[in-house]
Amino acid sequence: MNLKLPDCLELATDREIRKCQNDFMNLLKTDGEDHMKTVGFQGGREQMEIWWFKKYKFWWSYSEAISRHWNAFGMADNMDDDISQGYSITCEINSPHRADNWQPRGRFCKDDKGRYYIAHTGHLNASGKRIKLDEYTLWPRTKICGLDRSVFVISALDDKNLIENVCNFVKTVQKIKEKIKSNSDEEREQLKLEDYLNKKSHKEIESELDNIEPISSEFIEITGKAYKRNNVVIALLKKRQDYKCQICQTRIRKKKDGFYIEAAHIKSKSEKGPENRKNILILCPNHHKEFDFGDRKIIKHSKNEIIFKLNGVKHAINL
Ligand SMILES: [Zn+2]
Repeated sequence: MNLKLPDCLELATDREIRKCQNDFMNLLKTDGEDHMKTVGFQGGREQMEIWWFKKYKFWWSYSEAISRHWNAFGMADNMDDDISQGYSITCEINSPHRADNWQPRGRFCKDDKGRYYIAHTGHLNASGKRIKLDEYTLWPRTKICGLDRSVFVISALDDKNLIENVCNFVKTVQKIKEKIKSNSDEEREQLKLEDYLNKKSHKEIESELDNIEPISSEFIEITGKAYKRNNVVIALLKKRQDYKCQICQTRIRKKKDGFYIEAAHIKSKSEKGPENRKNILILCPNHHKEFDFGDRKIIKHSKNEIIFKLNGVKHAINL
């Protein structure tokens, strides 16, 4: 969105909120295709009227709740499917009936020239976690005049690209949610593997590492479940190193049980670095970041050893 935002925005008054919501709805209803669909949300699903925007492949639904205007949005390539669990909501931009109610996360605001904006506080729920938008993305944000609060500005209400701007916001939220979900899936898989590998001897770990090399499949079956190959290799290497950093030997004890340690790819996955022991170092968070962002010069890299200089300090590590 190309917006020159003022230093601060005023909150719309209670009366202005209703007018903004009406203007917003009229615009969406004019542009969207009207459908009756099942919408799934936390705790249930319901047949609802939704408006689909073919060009942007997303939809909107509205209902007036006790203290707020409920605007739900989701992504959908088409309206052909009758998804049994319903079209799922990506995010809500709910505006309160009263400006001083900060429970709903949507906001209508205005600038000193009387232009209205739709905005969001940035608080989201994703995979059971509470997150704030600015931890993940740069989205135009501005302060609320006279209050110690700020909002992410989604669009001016009179912007000719209003619907596209709203869609981009929903897409951004969708991407963040997917990322958080895949991170927590990954974490869960790693913990399961750790549990399984902790019962293995040093010798068994070594032989599993050797056996894993020639397999080309992306998944490896362990006790009847398919695990991502990358996760298996990392879990094996962490266990082999006893969860200690291969540079400084430290390890972080977790509150419950076990240790926290990270895996660094020598040649990154995006550079098509292989998922095997030759390409992975087990490092503490500090050395991981130094390895990724520091001045790194690889002197020698063979099957069994890597010698490199990191910010001027030489390291030799057995792989
Ligand atoms: Zn370290």
